[in-house]
Amino acid sequence: MSTKKRPIYLDYNASAPMRIEAWEAIKPFFSDHHAAHNASSVHSYGREGRKQIEHARSKIASLIGTDSNQVIFNSGATEGNNTVLRHFQETYPNDKILISAAEHPSISQSDAYCAHIEVIPVDENGLLDLSALEHALQTEQKTSLVSCQFVNNESGVIQDVAAISALAHRYGALFHCDGTQAAGRFPLNIQECGIDFLTISSHKIGGPQGVGALALALCGQTPTLLFGGGQEKSARAGTENLTGIIGFGAAAQAAQEQLDMYQKLSEKRDYLEDSLKEISPDIVIFGKDVPRVSNTSFFSLPDTNAQTLLMAFDIEGIALSNGSACSSGTVKPSVTLAAMNIPEHIAQGALRVSIGWATHDEDIDALSAAWAKIITRMKPKGAS
Ligand code: PMP
Repeated sequence: MSTKKRPIYLDYNASAPMRIEAWEAIKPFFSDHHAAHNASSVHSYGREGRKQIEHARSKIASLIGTDSNQVIFNSGATEGNNTVLRHFQETYPNDKILISAAEHPSISQSDAYCAHIEVIPVDENGLLDLSALEHALQTEQKTSLVSCQFVNNESGVIQDVAAISALAHRYGALFHCDGTQAAGRFPLNIQECGIDFLTISSHKIGGPQGVGALALALCGQTPTLLFGGGQEKSARAGTENLTGIIGFGAAAQAAQEQLDMYQKLSEKRDYLEDSLKEISPDIVIFGKDVPRVSNTSFFSLPDTNAQTLLMAFDIEGIALSNGSACSSGTVKPSVTLAAMNIPEHIAQGALRVSIGWATHDEDIDALSAAWAKIITRMKPKGAS
């Protein structure tokens, strides 16, 4: 008799499973077959929709340390990032926009519509080179915006966002932060960090996909991408994604209540890394010596191939990633590792494990056991 193994999902940075709190909050609005809740309608259904949206907004504002009226709902972090960079290109067409070398494609590909993007390098650990940033800010051509992620989606490395924003402000630029992998992972206060614009995404914190938010600080600018309806005080036209927003709000509340638990995930992550090192002492763990988010491990055994390893893990019922899921299907070399100058024979085997609230100790043990099995099988004949 075959005993079917429980699938093990360790790819939270790509998309976290929906939290039960989010699903419970959304469910009634999916199962009400009598009416829809367009939050712009004046009837009671519309008013109920509006109430739900404002409730969710307050939960999200609380998670990131800002006021409700500074939170604009949208379709996710890709939209948020595009909105901010396009706004700066249109408002200050002659100015530079500085971005880090390890950004998500929704920032790094902004050179498709921004005329003066300049890329600031990161060091071998993935941390932004602050002196290169300062140098770029000092040139004759003015910089209107500096954009840097808070947490890298592949390595989990945490940038010194307060120092970056202070530098940007010293030279008269505003600061945008892609906080997609930071929100819900540790206490985050956008005012204290000096962030002028923060993008976040629901599906990274256990809410549904296709919804996110752009949060503003008090710089007085409201980047706007979509015009037409008056929704979101005309900052983002289009009927609100009510169920998405409700789930996002519930996930934000749960994430905030469980911040302590989330930070303790580093114990599981460190245990995993110790086990992998014991099996394969040559493993390289990226960003290990600098601040990292608690749930992420990005590592490589030199001269292996991530695509082959991912398929082998999949057969074992374990879902991992080779880094960014946005290029899934094709295993492209990691942008983050390229920016960190990691040699090709190491970068090509890089795997990302990202855990979360539903990860058990047994899942970590199962991953280590599978690693031992797969690596033994892959060893060239005659190798010890
Ligand atoms: N920025 C970062 C750092 C991300 O990890 C992601 C998702 N992979 C995005 C932006 C895009 O987010 P969304 O899926 O909400 O568009």
